[in-house]
Amino acid sequence: MSSENKQGFPAHNPLTSYWLKDPHPLASFRSSEYVPHECDIAIIGTGLAGVATAYHILSDPSINTAKLKVVLLEARQACSGATGRNGGHLKLAAWIARHTILNFGYQAAEEVVAHQLNQLSAIHGIAEKENIDCELRVTRSFDVFFDESHASETREFISACKEKGVAWAEDIEWIEASRSDEITGMKNTKGALGVPAVSLWPYKLVTGLLEKVLELGGKLYTETYVEKVEELRNYTNLTTSRGSINARKTIFATNAYTAALLPQFEGVITPFKGQNSHLSPIPSFHPTKPLDYTYNLHFNSKYADYLNPRPDNGIILGGGKWTYEDKLDRAEWWNTTDDTNLINDASTEHFDLVMETHFQGWEEAKAQHDSVWTGIMGQTPDSFPHIGRVPGSENQWLLAGFNGAGMTMICTASRGIARMVLDERDYDETGLPKVFKSTFERLGVKNSGFASD
Ligand SMILES: Cc1cc2nc3c(=O)[nH]c(=O)nc-3n(C[C@H](O)[C@H](O)[C@H](O)COP(=O)(O)OP(=O)(O)OC[C@H]3O[C@@H](n4cnc5c(N)ncnc54)[C@H](O)[C@@H]3O)c2cc1C
Repeated sequence: MSSENKQGFPAHNPLTSYWLKDPHPLASFRSSEYVPHECDIAIIGTGLAGVATAYHILSDPSINTAKLKVVLLEARQACSGATGRNGGHLKLAAWIARHTILNFGYQAAEEVVAHQLNQLSAIHGIAEKENIDCELRVTRSFDVFFDESHASETREFISACKEKGVAWAEDIEWIEASRSDEITGMKNTKGALGVPAVSLWPYKLVTGLLEKVLELGGKLYTETYVEKVEELRNYTNLTTSRGSINARKTIFATNAYTAALLPQFEGVITPFKGQNSHLSPIPSFHPTKPLDYTYNLHFNSKYADYLNPRPDNGIILGGGKWTYEDKLDRAEWWNTTDDTNLINDASTEHFDLVMETHFQGWEEAKAQHDSVWTGIMGQTPDSFPHIGRVPGSENQWLLAGFNGAGMTMICTASRGIARMVLDERDYDETGLPKVFKSTFERLGVKNSGFASD
């Protein structure tokens, strides 16, 4: 691959994120100079999806790891995609539950939320089992509402679920406006939800897991672009920037970048850009009450920021979409994989004001950015990922298109993919939500606005 950035592929020289500031020793590691000529399983991508899938495959007790050749291919440094650039938290996302109920009914929502709750315990379980120090905290998260009608819509939704006896709604606590400032530590809130959550340093989790994958015999090729894939009778040929490899089975853990290799996903998984930051208060600032929970700040039903307080009083804060959605040329943030620059300065200016404007006791903290970056997510028309066998393929699987919420889905999804690939199981036997299954029918629906891009 030339040093020119190619449409749809990961860009060369992305901005560095706060999470990526100290590269792991495996960041640019390659098991050999060129990729091997063949392997049993090729996994494209070393974000959480690729590495967790490799981990689930290689740690399967039925596997003879000395015999199974698993190769991970990564275009840039290890874990330098969305996983190294995100909010660093995962939570029961009530807005996804609501979207699922409205479009697919209660049973589908039951499966999706159960999957999210499993994900919280799965990610915690893996970090603990493998003893990975990634600052993981099992905590709660607040969805805080600033718009009265959005707050009352959400309150009615939660109480309808509770009245209906929906089990997962018991994990959600509605906090009335009269108490929400006091409980959340914020100002002028119109109500809040408290939900289960995990906060962590995603890059540390994934690189810790990558060490384990290599110990188990996996081979890693970073800074190795997969440029083309061709499915043949019993294998897929992958042309890479470090030679060509025939893989008996291929897994696409390429999230936003999937359509560059699988054109049938053009307009079905559309890459879009988000902006994120790390804020540091002045050193003399000591909060009277440290922030323990993570947050989503819902300014109205359309726009929200995500916020993750770090143990050292630093803050991860991203969002600010209204500063560019209708103000910039859409190509600046939509259908682009360019994370080498920021979307705009207006988001950053907004980030710099959030703590003093919205958090009690932070008025003098001067919590402003010392790091700002962008990252690329993958949007699908129905807001669900594509997981399972690539429709119509004999030897290709994928888990991709996580719509900015992959941390709430990937560990359990990758466990399902491992089962499908190792045992040739059907998607329906994995226990994954039916609405996540990749199908021809879903491939037929394109993201709105895509054709005009
Ligand atoms: C700014 C931002 C904030 C976010 N906040 C949250 C949040 O708060 N909560 C949440 O749940 N989720 C959040 N997300 C979404 C979450 O980070 C993603 O859903 C998740 O990390 C996707 O993981 P992945 O492994 O599928 O993709 P990635 O981490 O993007 O990994 C895909 C990898 O594939 C590689 N690749 C792609 N194509 C090729 C190729 N042709 N050859 C070789 N390698 C290739 C890429 O280089 C990349 O490393 C956020 C994302 C961003 C960008």
